[in-house]
Amino acid sequence: MNEPLYQALNDQMNFEFLSSQVYLAKAAYCSAESLDGFANFFIVQAEEERFHAMKIYKFLNARGKRVTFKGMPDPNNEYSSVLDAFEQGYAHEQEVTRRIYHLSDLALNDREHATIHFLKWFIDEQVEEEAMFDGLIQKLKRIDKDSNAFFMLDAELAKRTFVPPAE
Ligand code: MG
Repeated sequence: MNEPLYQALNDQMNFEFLSSQVYLAKAAYCSAESLDGFANFFIVQAEEERFHAMKIYKFLNARGKRVTFKGMPDPNNEYSSVLDAFEQGYAHEQEVTRRIYHLSDLALNDREHATIHFLKWFIDEQVEEEAMFDGLIQKLKRIDKDSNAFFMLDAELAKRTFVPPAE
């Protein structure tokens, strides 16, 4: 594994930890609005991001590379609505996808087949992440925020649990 690829993977591990904080900030906003189901959705999302970060941590260790931790910028804590929190989440996932594609380009140029294979899991994961956010945004756009449907969606998202994918 060449140096630029190693540094980019290390950066992505740090970015996944930042993503975890980004989603906890959204959870805290929802909790403050007494929307515990939406808060639960974002707490589970934060757990997923931590899992993604640890997946890269373990991969770099397995490849004999030492990971290094970096300071994080503040996540945004201000939202005008739940829809706004989801739209910012969707934009964040699109940025993650861009980063994973860039990592894949570096791995392909380096002919680093172990990393190319490793990143395939993340490429598939990003398709799901973007589809999930897009789907919830479409729903939220159709329902009024004081309607029964809104509180039913909150109740539905209260059921989301973090299940670590099989390694
Ligand atoms: Mg992620």
